[in-house]
This record gives sequence, structure tokens and C-alpha cells, in this order.
Amino acid sequence: MSPTPPTPAGAPDWARVRADFPLLMREVNGKPLVYFDNANTAQKPLPVIDAVDAFYRRYNANVSRAVHALGTEATEAYEGARARLARFLNVPGDELVLCNGTTFALNLVAYSWALPRLQAGDVILVSRMEHHANIVPWQLVAQRTGAHIRVAEILPDGSLDLDALNAAMTGEVKLLALAHVSNVLGTVNPVREICREARRRGIVTVIDGSQAAPHLTLDVAAIGCDFYAVTGHKMCGPTGTGALWARRELLEAMPPFIGGGEMIKQVSFDGTVFNDAPHKFEAGTPNIAGFVGLGAAVDYLETLGREHIAAREQALLAHLTEELQRVDGVRIFGTTPHKAAVVSFLVEGAHAHDLATLLDLEGVAVRSGQHCAHPLLQYFGVAATCRASLAFYNTHQEVEAFIAALQKARALLG
Ligand code: PMP
Repeated sequence: MSPTPPTPAGAPDWARVRADFPLLMREVNGKPLVYFDNANTAQKPLPVIDAVDAFYRRYNANVSRAVHALGTEATEAYEGARARLARFLNVPGDELVLCNGTTFALNLVAYSWALPRLQAGDVILVSRMEHHANIVPWQLVAQRTGAHIRVAEILPDGSLDLDALNAAMTGEVKLLALAHVSNVLGTVNPVREICREARRRGIVTVIDGSQAAPHLTLDVAAIGCDFYAVTGHKMCGPTGTGALWARRELLEAMPPFIGGGEMIKQVSFDGTVFNDAPHKFEAGTPNIAGFVGLGAAVDYLETLGREHIAAREQALLAHLTEELQRVDGVRIFGTTPHKAAVVSFLVEGAHAHDLATLLDLEGVAVRSGQHCAHPLLQYFGVAATCRASLAFYNTHQEVEAFIAALQKARALLG
């Protein structure tokens, strides 16, 4: 058993932080829950749960429509969430489109930016490690425009092959779509350097920040990309919340994706004048309560301190990796030194789903399967992996419990 590393100066009291998450107190199959599926969705702290509860109890109303007090309060809270998220990402609020998650955000870029612009012969460059949400929208655009998808390959350690990526950025490439952090490997891609190179070559960049926003000290403006997508439920916020940041000039040049109320200034049967960005892309009633919760989640993460969150997760990752490497027959996918606290693995002779099922019997929640990244698993030549993904509220004791449960499962399956 390895010793628990000391807490860095100024870090929160993590035991007290954990107590903010009521769900983590429950048992599963008679065992204390060990929730290691954070890359799938994160748990919610009391301030988020309370914010959603308070919205429905005290000021539930639609946004931007009613002049009455409740409508004003709801609109202020919703716009307040936009302002908080914008500050968190370091982008202007009027360049931040609120939507229901990364999947929607990436489709918005595909349908509003790429579809009207790309043509036969153009190339969309994606990496091997993308989530399906950053592959399939581009395939749909390619089918309709005659553009091609080109794949930037990875190296066996799960890092991007940067030489190959640079070589792939030829004159036909109009768009590069890339994950900031891989949801399977944990690899943190050097997006700043990559975007600088892409910009030099006139390539528009779309960064999928789903797995980065909850874990890294993030400065979207400094990355120098053109589009950046985030999803709220992985940031301790409610499901059905997320955002797309885009450079103002791109947002202004893009047609609306979905039409309806809220995204217009004036409608007549002769034609419609659209609202200004970002509202032009926010038709219909949004997930108001969800965004109220997301605003609280952003405040919560900022109060903990993102540098403290990152340090805590790195300490847990180091512990987990070290212990896992000692288990006989374990293969870890994604071994770059610069990675987030996501560990995909297999145990020789055991199927990922069997492992995950036996771990669940011990109260340990990991994800098994293809993690919405079929092409990546094809590269490694495996049908599925188990994935343990950590958050700051996990503990070193949970790492030990996970390893004990894994040893037990291994013995049963071996
Ligand atoms: N991209 C990555 C890297 C992800 O991990 C996920 C969620 N698993 C998504 C996109 C899609 O996010 P959502 O389902 O919240 O839209």
C-alpha cells in the first residue's frame, strides 16, 4: 500500500469537500460506493442541487419573455450562468452559445459553419482519439458536401503523432476537429501549439473540451482556437447543459441552426430578422434550471480552485496507475506523462464487461465498452476496455478498494 501524498498548501480539506456530495454516501450491493465513472458524468455537490431546488421552489419562470418579477429573476439567473461560464473559460459572454451539451455544440458548428462552406475536395481533419460526437457530425457534413475526412493518427502511448498531424494539414484541409483531452486515454493534447499551426495555414479549429473543462486550469482565449465546446454534466452541473464558444466574426457569419422563439428580432410572413449572436442560436425554452445549477457548479469549482483540483486528481491518478501496474496481466491504454485522471485498462483473459460487473458487485462503478470511440479501440485492436475515471472528490482509500475489488475479480475470472 502506498502512503497518501501530503496535501499541497492552501488546498481544500478534501474530506469536507467529499461531504458536499450526498450521493457518494450511499452503498451499492452492500458496499460503500466507489464512483470511478466521472468521465461519463460527474456527481453533483449540494450547492448545485440546492440551486436547482431553489429555482423550482422560488422563481421558476420562462426567460426573456415575461416582464413580471419571476421572469426577471429567472432571466437574470440564466444570464448569470452564461457570465459565470464565460469567466470560467475566459471568453466574452456574448460569444458563448448556451446549448444542451457538447454533442449539440459540435453539431451546431457542423450544420451552421461547415455545411454551407465546405465543398467537394475539401478535407476535414480529425484525430484517431475522437469521441463519436466529434466524428459523426463531420461525416454527415462530408456526405452532403463531398468533403473528405482525414484521420490524424496516434502513437502507441496514446499521444497524437504531431509530425503526422502537421503533415496532414495540407491546403485542402478547411477544418480541424480535435479533443482537448481524450475520454478514453486521458491524453491532454497540446491544443495551443496545434491551433497556432492550423491558424498559420488558414485551418479553422474546433476543440472538444468535454473532458478538459472539469479538470484543467482552462484558458480558452489563450488556446487560440476558433470553436470550443463544453458539457455541463461533467463539470458537476446538471445534464442537458453545455456551451459553444466561437469567435465573434464566425458567430456573426453563421446562419441559425434551429429556428423558433427567442432567436428572432422580428418575424413576418415576408421574412425574419434574426437576433444577435449568441441568442440567434438559442431557439426555444432552454434548460433554465439546468443552467442555474451549472452556474452554481462553476462557482463551486472556482471556490475549490482549479489548480487544487488538478493537483488532487494528478495525485489520485499517480496512485491508481502505480497500483494498477502491480496487478498481474493488466494492460493500460494511454501512458503519456501528460494525461488527465482517466485510466483505460484490461486484464488478460477477462472481458471488460465481466470485470465491470464483478467490480460493481464490490460497489465499484467503472465504465466498460467502447466509450463512444470505436476508431480508437480499433487502433488498439480490442473490442472493449474498462475505464476508471477520477474526480477530486475521490479518495486514496477508494483507489485501494478498487484495486482490492479488481484482484478479487481477477481471481474469479482467471
Ligand atoms: N466528447 C467527449 C470527449 C466526451 O467525453 C463526451 C461525453 N462522453 C462528449 C463529447 C459528448 O458529450 P455530451 O454527451 O454531454 O454531449
